[in-house]
Amino acid sequence: MSTRSEQREQFSPGEDGDTSVWHQGGCHCGRVRFEVLAPPVLEVLDCNCSICIKTGLWHLIVPKTHFRLLQGDDALTEYQFGTGTARHLFCATCGIKSFYIPRSHPDGVDINARCLDQSQVQALRIRPYDGQNWEQARAGIE
Ligand SMILES: [Zn+2]
Repeated sequence: MSTRSEQREQFSPGEDGDTSVWHQGGCHCGRVRFEVLAPPVLEVLDCNCSICIKTGLWHLIVPKTHFRLLQGDDALTEYQFGTGTARHLFCATCGIKSFYIPRSHPDGVDINARCLDQSQVQALRIRPYDGQNWEQARAGIE
């Protein structure tokens, strides 16, 4: 009659979603503040495309439902180029791009992991993303 406890042991509590926490973050001047639901150990993308190589942001891409803008909607300015799919949002006061709507996931939100408060971050794994060869690299992060 040990079947039940064996099944319980096989259950893995560390699966995606179970351990996610609300990380908070924002721009430099503090006008823009947001929170994002993500694991405490973050895997972020380091992209080398024409804009990311200049801003140097680390990408944490989440579904829209995992993102809440707490304040600063009126502080955001938008920049668009190329296909115009991505909405590059940044704070009009301090210039920091703390999150935006990415071309790769127009229904999601791309968080700049460098703008997260560190209190909830256990570790950060940085994965190179070849944005210079966008079409091929896009296929790798479906
Ligand atoms: Zn700001």
